[in-house]
Amino acid sequence: MATKDFEPNETIYLNTASLVPDDETEHHFQVRFSDGSVDPQLYKATKINTVKLRDNRVLYTFDGFMNHSCIPNTRSESVNGSELTYHQIATKHISTGEEITCNYLLFDYDCDGHQFECKCGHEECYGLIRGFANLTLPQQVNLLQFVDPCIKQRWLSSNKNLKIFEDLLIPNYLYLSDAHGEVGLLSKRSFKKGEIVFRNKITKIEQSDITIVKLDNSYKVLNNLTHTINRVSHRLFIYFDTFMNHSCDPNTRTIFCDDSDTYNTVCIRDIGSDEELTCDYTTFDYYNDSELFECACSSTNCQNYI
Ligand SMILES: [Zn+2]
Ligand SMILES: [Zn+2]
Repeated sequence: MATKDFEPNETIYLNTASLVPDDETEHHFQVRFSDGSVDPQLYKATKINTVKLRDNRVLYTFDGFMNHSCIPNTRSESVNGSELTYHQIATKHISTGEEITCNYLLFDYDCDGHQFECKCGHEECYGLIRGFANLTLPQQVNLLQFVDPCIKQRWLSSNKNLKIFEDLLIPNYLYLSDAHGEVGLLSKRSFKKGEIVFRNKITKIEQSDITIVKLDNSYKVLNNLTHTINRVSHRLFIYFDTFMNHSCDPNTRTIFCDDSDTYNTVCIRDIGSDEELTCDYTTFDYYNDSELFECACSSTNCQNYI
């Protein structure tokens, strides 16, 4: 419980957990407050109050008694990348007397097979809490920016078809923007006809891969049909360029280099600053997905269905 008010982003405490063996040992401890006084109560932590970390368990001492909430009022932030030392930080205003909560799903992978029914009462409540591993993919991707790095690592190593692109490699003179209800690729500077706007590389992914990108600090699952190119035996992912929209009268053209994993995007007419860059999808996508979309380019030679 909070004995004072906290403002959002205020550090509530610094704690260092200990590693203990992964067995049924009970751990007994007393709490000493920062003014030196000691809580006469003897606290007992068991498996329920600790979290598995590789072959050991993490004993958080007093923090092992913090309850879960699906919309918690605190989050943990590792100190210098440490797995055991962390700041507990308020995510919203906390009033004196309010219970401090955290989201167990961010640091407990599978709850050792345990589960409990959450009673947090929030509209977005996950219901049964069984660890990060048992959430749906959209729930996992929503939490990904906040999750403990070792949970993320474990998740990736047990789901080989997840491909996360942490960096879209976007050149600093380009930017993504909501152009017309759709994310598009725009240029901050102008280009003369014939200039190379950017050189980009292609990454091969498997047909069954799930493509996840980090965009504005949060993660999104891309629809492979619209964001990767089908080459039958595999698919191609092209980083930031996946957000360039199609036009039947485009202002750029794609020229593949000899090693075929890189290409230049060249402008075929002058481009002004803050203008949207477009390309003609039919020049590099062979209809292997048999998917049509209605074109909104409104050019006079629009093919209507691409
Ligand atoms: Zn809940
Ligand atoms: Zn068109």
